Amino acid sequence: MNDLTQAQPIEAAHSAESVLSVQNLVKVYGEPGHGATHTALDGFSLQVPAGGFVGVMGPSGSGKTTLLNIMATIDRPTSGSVRLAGVDPSTMENGELALFRRRRLGFVFQDFNLLDSLSLRENILLPLVLDRVPVRRMQQRLAQITETLGISAILDRRPFEVSGGQQQRAAIARSIIHEPDLILADELTGNLDSTAGHDVMTALSDLNREHGVTVVMVTHDPFAASFCNRITFIRDGKTWGELHQSANRQAFMQQILDNLSLMSGGGHELRAAGA
Ligand code: ADP
Ligand code: MG
Repeated sequence: MNDLTQAQPIEAAHSAESVLSVQNLVKVYGEPGHGATHTALDGFSLQVPAGGFVGVMGPSGSGKTTLLNIMATIDRPTSGSVRLAGVDPSTMENGELALFRRRRLGFVFQDFNLLDSLSLRENILLPLVLDRVPVRRMQQRLAQITETLGISAILDRRPFEVSGGQQQRAAIARSIIHEPDLILADELTGNLDSTAGHDVMTALSDLNREHGVTVVMVTHDPFAASFCNRITFIRDGKTWGELHQSANRQAFMQQILDNLSLMSGGGHELRAAGA
């Protein structure tokens, strides 16, 4: 390797211990022979071990949302395999899949998606109420999680009475209250200022370390990504490389920035654009 900070290419390998394993994913939009088709994913692979905290980064149009939708079992790949918590979602019926998604996965979105008519506590407990989990069990888990997330004192407030960072921490609590196997997050700091983004990422990182919550997040924000254990870079629907966390988060963020600029500057597109 000519550059120590450069991301290393990864080898596709099945792992029995992965909470999430996607192998050679291809997603083609449009039908062959019926107008234009577009290959959004072109042989993408990713393994996420239990307790992992993985970021997926790539330029706009690189296939991140397509990948997230497939990992979330909302969309199916054209080819390639997905294993989530030991299950192949392609073998499930729609009803079964919806239940699987609700019980085994947790989602965090850019715009929080909390219900304004409910308190933070009610928002967080909603997934458990749906599954009729006993009240005492709910209270215990709620206390633990909201303590780690630093929102235990504001649980009676409604979303519009707290800050964006507090709303996102409540949304994270809601995403993990039912003890899912995996949290999928899409640009979770996208609507936050840097202080709130810091608080949210610190809280998520604490949950990952203290409660072993497994997280995969898609982001274009190098600061948010620097909290991950590992970053996978995606370009043109392919794995471009991977970085592992260094001892120091500042240094890791610099490596991420270096790789983002390598990734966007190294191709022939720039020369073509300047020609
Ligand atoms: P990202 O989230 O990284 O910006 P996307 O996964 O949204 O990338 O899109 C990857 C590529 O696939 C883009 O070129 C996009 O235009 C194309 N694409 C995404 N969704 C569709 C769709 N429903 N139909 C056709 N093309 C799509
Ligand atoms: Mg997207």
